[in-house]
Amino acid sequence: MGPMLGALLKLQAVEDDLAHVRRRLRSKENAVGAARRKVEELTAQQKALHEQFVRRQSETDGIELERASREEEIVRLRSVLNHAKTNKEYSAILTQMNTYKADNSKLEDEILKIMEGVDSVKAEAEKVATQIEIEQRHLDEVAQSSAQEVTKLNTLMADLKERRKLAVRDVDLDAMRVFERMAEARDGRAMARIEVVDAKSGQYSCGGCYMSLAAEHYSALLSKDEIRRCDSCGCILYIEP
Ligand SMILES: [Zn+2]
Repeated sequence: MGPMLGALLKLQAVEDDLAHVRRRLRSKENAVGAARRKVEELTAQQKALHEQFVRRQSETDGIELERASREEEIVRLRSVLNHAKTNKEYSAILTQMNTYKADNSKLEDEILKIMEGVDSVKAEAEKVATQIEIEQRHLDEVAQSSAQEVTKLNTLMADLKERRKLAVRDVDLDAMRVFERMAEARDGRAMARIEVVDAKSGQYSCGGCYMSLAAEHYSALLSKDEIRRCDSCGCILYIEP
C-alpha cells in the first residue's frame, strides 16, 4: 500500500474510534431522555388526576349546597306545619316536605356516587405518585452514571480529535476532500476494503456495501497509490495490507 492510501487508512482508524465514541454518547443521551420522558408522562398523568379530583370536589360542593337549602326549607315547613289552618293546607305542606325529602335523598345518592369516584381518583393518584418516585430515582441514577460516562467519553473524544489532527497532516488535500465527504455521509466510514470473492475468475466485492466490484479496481490498487471508489457506495477502496 502506498503512502497516500496508508495515511488515509490511519485516519480511518481514528475516525472509526470517533464514530464509536459518538454512538456511545448518543446512546447515553437517549437513555437519559427516555427516563426523563417517563417521569414527564407520569407527572402529566398526576396533574390530570388532580384536575379531575378538583372538578368532582366542586361538583359535590354544588350539590351539597342544593341539598342544604332544601334541608332548611324542610325545617321551615315543619314549623309552618304546626300552624296549618286547614287539613288541605296541612296536607299540601306535608306533600311539599316529602317532595323535598325525596329530592334530598336523590342528591345524597348522587354525592355518594361522586365521592366513590373521588376515592378511586385519589387511589389512582397515590399509585401514580409512587411510580413518579420510582421513575425519578431511576432518572437520577441514569443521569448520574451517564454524566460520569459522558465525561469519560468527552475526554476520549478530545484525545481522538487531537489524534485526528495529526493523522490529517499526512493526508493529501484532494484525498482528504473525498474522505471527509464520505465520512460525513456514512457515520465516519469513508473507506472500504476490497473483498476477494474469487481471485481466479476476478470476482471482488466492496467491504462497505457488499456489492460486486470491477476487477480493475483490484489490479490497479496492487500497483498504484490512488483514490478508487466503489461504484455503488462511493467508499474509497483499499487492499488489506
Ligand atoms: Zn461499496
